[in-house]
Amino acid sequence: MAYDPSNVFARILRGELPCKKVYEDEWALAFHDINPLAPVHVLVIPKGPYVSMVDFGANAAPEEVGGFFKAVAKVAEMLGVNERGYRILANAGPDANQEVPHLHVHLFAGAPLGPMLRRVSAG
Ligand code: 5GP
Repeated sequence: MAYDPSNVFARILRGELPCKKVYEDEWALAFHDINPLAPVHVLVIPKGPYVSMVDFGANAAPEEVGGFFKAVAKVAEMLGVNERGYRILANAGPDANQEVPHLHVHLFAGAPLGPMLRRVSAG
């Protein structure tokens, strides 16, 4: 899928839409999800134009990949969730219900999060 620069996270990165920022550096921006599904629900996005993890792995420079994952770790540390625990998740494509076509990692925490996923059947 080609990257669509009009997606909502691209607009947040360009400052065209507001966000509740948690962290920003050269490689990544982290902000609170507009519709939180846990007491802590933060999104971490790379600054480059990547649709998914496959796109990112195939096309980002090693510094971008490293910088992004270091930012995810930094955000977890900053939020103070490392001891009690947290979950990170990245949806990609229709089977995963990816809504926004700019790579993002969800970070959930702040309460027991329950099972990883409900069991699903092939379909
Ligand atoms: P996806 O299903 O693509 O993994 O998740 C997209 C996430 O982006 C959803 O959790 C949704 O609530 C969040 N989201 C969508 N639009 C906005 C927005 O304008 N601002 C913020 N902060 N989050 C958004």
